[in-house]
Amino acid sequence: MLAGGGEAALIRRYFQGLTACREGVVVGIGDDSALLESPAEGGLAVCCDTLVEGVHFPADIPAEALGHRVLAVNLSDIAAVGGEPLWAVLSLSLPQAEPEWLEGFAEGFKRLADRYNVALIGGDTTRGALSVTVTVIGCVAHGQGLRRAGAHPGDEIWVTGTLGDAALGLERWRQRAGLPLTGNAAVLAARLFRPEPRVAAGRALRGVATAAIDLSDGVAVDLSRLLEESGVGATLQLEALPRSAAFIAEGGELAALLHGGDDYELCFTTSPLSAQQVERLAEQAGTTLTRIGAVESTPGLRGVDGAGNTCALQADGYDHFAAGV
Ligand code: ADP
Ligand code: MG
Repeated sequence: MLAGGGEAALIRRYFQGLTACREGVVVGIGDDSALLESPAEGGLAVCCDTLVEGVHFPADIPAEALGHRVLAVNLSDIAAVGGEPLWAVLSLSLPQAEPEWLEGFAEGFKRLADRYNVALIGGDTTRGALSVTVTVIGCVAHGQGLRRAGAHPGDEIWVTGTLGDAALGLERWRQRAGLPLTGNAAVLAARLFRPEPRVAAGRALRGVATAAIDLSDGVAVDLSRLLEESGVGATLQLEALPRSAAFIAEGGELAALLHGGDDYELCFTTSPLSAQQVERLAEQAGTTLTRIGAVESTPGLRGVDGAGNTCALQADGYDHFAAGV
């Protein structure tokens, strides 16, 4: 409940009919539950992510960026298993119902949802500290879902896009002292606020990747999770870690490439690919693919620099309960 009769009016005004209709939605927003018909050929993929003010995003993030981001991080989870996103549920906790903010938030959400043909089918709206939770339901044919487990010694390790941009973007956003960001700093901040979920890449990787994960906490820690689930280790070529022109121009460092969060790229393993296969995959994925290392039987994650020096890499990135629970 938000307040008096305002809650129903708010839902009607900002969220009912927000996204385009899509098949499978028998009843959407407005009843006690959405009623859905699941796609004929089977499996569903379900994920849920919460963004809390001050923890997952700075208090001064534009509302439209938050609307985009909370859906994007979920679409990234669906992408990581090779799924097709179908439907989304949105739970909003707001300190107040501010029309301008709600309009911006709904617009950011809608624009991304429409690009991926995702229907908003329900949610909840309450008064409280600013926090947004989205659940996305997607489909993936039985047995086709990509997993973190499945990487074998001898497999290649790949990432989509570039790394470290969002972490450096957050640094520049914090340093901006009230001035608008421009040039490379603005490019990096856009990567933080409006990540592009790699749905097409995940789709292209079905039947190709032996294992996959999306990069939310930094490649060192996320890849370590994949390796652990697969019961293997790896060595990364540190010089190969892909960096954007903006990242280089802004003096981004190795630590941001390895440990910076919020990239929402995919990291995956494959048996060795030919140049032709890579070219085709990149075309289907709609982004660059970079080989960053190799899977080995020795557990743990190592890095080798341009001079051939090898060092153990700490599997650290962002961890909400790092101090122990
Ligand atoms: P109930 O009290 O029965 O849970 P609500 O009043 O919370 O119902 O919600 C009414 C309808 O609006 C439901 O269909 C619900 O899924 C939808 N809804 C509520 N909040 C949101 C939101 N933030 N985004 C999308 N749909 C919402
Ligand atoms: Mg309710």
